[in-house]
Amino acid sequence: MILEIEKYGSGKLRIPARKVAVTPELVALAESMLETMYKAKGVGLAAEQVGRDEALCVIDVPESCEDDEATKAFNAQTVQPLVMFNPEIVSSCGEQTGREGCLSLPNVGGDVTRPAEVTVQYLDMKGVPQISTVRGFLARAVCHETDHLKGVLYVDHMDEKARDKVLKKLKRHK
Ligand SMILES: [Zn+2]
Repeated sequence: MILEIEKYGSGKLRIPARKVAVTPELVALAESMLETMYKAKGVGLAAEQVGRDEALCVIDVPESCEDDEATKAFNAQTVQPLVMFNPEIVSSCGEQTGREGCLSLPNVGGDVTRPAEVTVQYLDMKGVPQISTVRGFLARAVCHETDHLKGVLYVDHMDEKARDKVLKKLKRHK
């Protein structure tokens, strides 16, 4: 089922998510979120973005988004799409700055600094605890989506001037 995506300004994007147990209803929600994300040509979607408050996000970053072969090979250890319930970044290292966009702020993007590598703990669709270490753009996506679950948007990480620029552009596209 295609779900409606909450846009910047919606209070629902600012509500911290609550931890959940994996139920058939939430697995069905995750499947609808994947369907919605693919249709919108996104690479990640958090439950907040479809008006929900569960700690759940989905990610599917195409290999072509990664800069180098080493990162592609490293990330191949993590099977995508990633469906993560109660995700928590347990460690991170390094730094990368690059362009980010968000389905809740359509048609705009901006540079954000993120860790180069993150390790994330979560429950998979079967409710089994998993741990994944990812790099590059996929690490950026994990940071972006886990931020959503805290009510944080990528523009919150930008300085005021850069943020104003993105928000002005966003207004023009409305
Ligand atoms: Zn987003």
